[in-house]
Amino acid sequence: MTRKEKLERYQELLNVTSSGRPPHPAMVVALPLPKGVNVSFEFFPPANEKAETSLWSCIDRLTTLAPSFVSVTYGAGGTTRERTHETVVKIAKETDLNSAAHLTCVGSSRDEIAAIARRYWQAGIRHIVALRGDAPEGAENYTANPDGYAYASDLVAGLKNIADFEISVAAYPESHPESSSPEADLDNLKRKIDAGANRAITQYFFDPEVYLRFLERARASGIHVPIVPGILPVTNIAQVKKFSKLSGTTVPDWLSELFEGLDDDQETRKLIAASVAAEQCRVLHASGVNDFHFYTLNRADLTYAICHILGVRDQQK
Ligand code: FAD
Repeated sequence: MTRKEKLERYQELLNVTSSGRPPHPAMVVALPLPKGVNVSFEFFPPANEKAETSLWSCIDRLTTLAPSFVSVTYGAGGTTRERTHETVVKIAKETDLNSAAHLTCVGSSRDEIAAIARRYWQAGIRHIVALRGDAPEGAENYTANPDGYAYASDLVAGLKNIADFEISVAAYPESHPESSSPEADLDNLKRKIDAGANRAITQYFFDPEVYLRFLERARASGIHVPIVPGILPVTNIAQVKKFSKLSGTTVPDWLSELFEGLDDDQETRKLIAASVAAEQCRVLHASGVNDFHFYTLNRADLTYAICHILGVRDQQK
């Protein structure tokens, strides 16, 4: 199928183009069970012993799905530097998972970044998710460390000079909020790929069409590496709306409406979260997408259920 045909097929499935209505569920479940799906999972480093126990039970459950890699975030401003390192290395030592470390430019000089990267390489970590990071809370604008890397593309080039890391970078289907235009943002993604990145992982989004249009534009701009959709199963709509304002992600009205009246009903919110994200993934898969990156928020149940619906099965059974 050509990309154009995939897009047409998707629009056929939705039976709408830009009305903002969600896909009709019956059309999606009627599709054959997906085959050939690859998944990856994102965790954040635990802040205390209880959170560590909960992270490890999440990792144990999701490991059974044989993800292509898992990654561990780097706290804003590099605040979790040690905890990220410990978690990434522990996953690599104690499991068979391909463990990746997020690393940001913010708050570190080039020498410090080089030391962090070398330590990862020596510990056997070969995959870095290279990011710029954000201004610290309270600061109005991002300012680069005078001795550091200004942008993620500079960080990618710097890491490649240190060792032949596999590198993933961020992509924004709705454009990064600070970019001057969607074209400038795509140029930036291209710079990151040209600097040596192997894959892009997207900011979360809710309308599959937003991702598919972005993918079209990226391919037309000469970006040919995998652009893996970032999937966020939503249980707390208020929190997601707040974060989406900052990240420039559209929260469609239909999504907000699905959570109306459920503030005190966590169980129902979870069922809805799984159903919405699974449908989003099935529509993407029907449009030719095989790789999915899940923002797990260190909880296994939703991600596990969605993967199951995507045909990804427990390899230990
Ligand atoms: P960049 O690619 O450097 O782009 C940042 C902005 O600068 C864009 O607007 C771009 O268009 C612009 N720009 C780039 N180069 C130039 C240039 N030469 N001249 C002018 N403008 C330029 N944050 C964390 O703190 N820790 C994490 O672990 C983390 N993980 C993430 C994982 C994913 C998959 C995603 C999508 C985001 C993640 N973030 C994380 C958030 C990320 O740090 C922020 O979105 C940040 O604001 C931008 O990072 P970037 O790597 O996309 O930056």
